[in-house]
Amino acid sequence: MKTIDDLGELRGKRVLVRSDLNVPLDGATITDDGRIRASVPTIRRLRGAGARVIVTAHLGRPRGEPDPKYSLRPVAERLGGLLGVEVRFATDTVGPSAQQTVSGLSDGDVALLENVRFNAGETSKNDAERGALADQLAALAEAFVSDGFGVVHRRQASVVDVAERLPHAAGELVVTELRVLRQLVESPDRPYIVVLGGSKVSDKLGVIERLLTTADRLLIGGGMVFTFLAAQGHEVGTSLLEREQIETVRGYLETARERKVDIVLPTDIVVVSKLEEDATATVVAASAMPSDQLGADIGPESTKAFAAAIESAETVFWNGPMGVFEMRPFAAGTAAVAHALTRVDGLTVVGGGDSAAAVRQLGFSDDEFGHISTGGGASLEFLEGKPLPGLQVLED
Ligand code: ADP
Ligand code: MG
Repeated sequence: MKTIDDLGELRGKRVLVRSDLNVPLDGATITDDGRIRASVPTIRRLRGAGARVIVTAHLGRPRGEPDPKYSLRPVAERLGGLLGVEVRFATDTVGPSAQQTVSGLSDGDVALLENVRFNAGETSKNDAERGALADQLAALAEAFVSDGFGVVHRRQASVVDVAERLPHAAGELVVTELRVLRQLVESPDRPYIVVLGGSKVSDKLGVIERLLTTADRLLIGGGMVFTFLAAQGHEVGTSLLEREQIETVRGYLETARERKVDIVLPTDIVVVSKLEEDATATVVAASAMPSDQLGADIGPESTKAFAAAIESAETVFWNGPMGVFEMRPFAAGTAAVAHALTRVDGLTVVGGGDSAAAVRQLGFSDDEFGHISTGGGASLEFLEGKPLPGLQVLED
């Protein structure tokens, strides 16, 4: 894979960088700037080499047209603060503002283009539509650096198509992410334990099949648990459930038994009638959930067992909160898993936007973990062994 070194002399060159600046916002306030911080090394390096840096990124899921709610303007300010330099903000992605902003750049200057998903071409399934946007993006620059690890699993204009149109390279973040994830796939120190949770259940089930061949133990929490409990024939009340996946999950449990891989499920669950901060929560056995309540966290007994298992590991990959950590009464499982990870001597990797936000929100600092991946879906698809289009395109 080509890296920034392969781009040659950068002084005076206009370099388009695809970063992942998709941060959680509360109004115009950035509640977790982890992804912005992770984007800094590449931008700083390009500036240092004298390039004119043009950053493109998305925020949220606008519907292919401008929507002020998803403007990157607050991000430009924060990025500038972190870089210690003014970041010029273009109010469109490839239109007059972008062109004017880019033509005004001097060596070492940085510009951020407005949300690339304000353009329908970005996420279009139609090659020509994506290509048209990629043509316009490519016209702004002389080289392309792909650094948005969180989007490399997406076939999108600013990720794949633009790379086909310019000399290209992987940025520092992508290189770092791949180094860590490769180690998990190729040579994890054992025992290698994977902790899975969160709510994007159907997205995440696919990785389990592959993990049954690479990991020694899977600990399952979060919304994913209930499809497993249902597969074992238990009542799951009104919990998150992927009915169509129950059979698949039964298959995983069977395969795990054959391969002697431990799939560890919680033995107790925190249940409530309604997901509310001040709801009355009770703890029940995982095999005896009431039919009119839902599971919002793993219970205290499970939390202890999960923490003990994690602390016995040499390698841990964790994706997905154990419960609805955003509400205090359901954050204990997630906090305990995070704490257990900080006590592991070997490599610990946290993947997933909400998981990364959770550890910071719960007061942990980034350096207590081996690596906090900026890409949830991308890291899972990598572990699954799927080819990622945004990486493939950097290979030739
Ligand atoms: P990540 O972004 O780390 O990959 P996901 O997006 O899959 O994780 O899931 C994060 C969300 O999962 C959180 O908002 C959390 O509230 C939710 N969640 C965790 N446990 C449960 C549960 N038992 N029921 C419903 N939602 C849950
Ligand atoms: Mg998420």
